[in-house]
Amino acid sequence: MFIVKQLYDLQLLDWDIQDREQSIAEVRARLADDSKRIAAKQRVDRIAARLTELGTPRRQHEGAIQQIESRRANIDKRIFSGMVTNARELEAFEEEKANLQRQHSDEEDSLLEILVEVEELQDVDIEANRTFEAINSARESEIIELQASEQALSQELPALSEQRNDMAADYPPVALATYDLVRKRRGGQAVALVERGACQGCRLTLPSNELQKVRTTQDMVQCSSCTRILVIA
Ligand SMILES: [Zn+2]
Repeated sequence: MFIVKQLYDLQLLDWDIQDREQSIAEVRARLADDSKRIAAKQRVDRIAARLTELGTPRRQHEGAIQQIESRRANIDKRIFSGMVTNARELEAFEEEKANLQRQHSDEEDSLLEILVEVEELQDVDIEANRTFEAINSARESEIIELQASEQALSQELPALSEQRNDMAADYPPVALATYDLVRKRRGGQAVALVERGACQGCRLTLPSNELQKVRTTQDMVQCSSCTRILVIA
């Protein structure tokens, strides 16, 4: 014979299933969330891209410095060759040398600026790569753990669902329909225990006739304030 208290057992089982389903959903959400690893990788890529980007101006300045130095060497060669004796010509050479010296120091300043940034970036690059490696390997282990717990949780579910269906199969359809309806309307709790004369679903004290009815009849009695199915604790 069906007794109302069986609905309470059904509720415990439903809660168990619901908890597991929620845990599975949480595990899956954590599995899907790769944002930390992606962010660390993006940082590594950004630094590498900036280092590559700095390569072009660096080569340009280095090339310019080389050119200036070779022009200067040529001038020196001509001056020291003793072939140039004309004072005005010598003066022109000296002027050109001074010019080249200014260009040389401008180019060196620009190059130095780039080299400083490159050096700083190389340190940051090492640190960013280390950080990424650490995050990546932690994530790899996390994924293995999460997959294992997803599998474990998922494996238990079919047996519980079967148990739930077996249990519900013996219950009167009206009782089940009421259970499902109230469960839906009352935040997943269809059955409330009665303790010290109060419904534990809504915490309100039951009218004495209602309390009497729960105690004495085998019929399903619903709380007059929250409609939950009442069961004596
Ligand atoms: Zn109630």
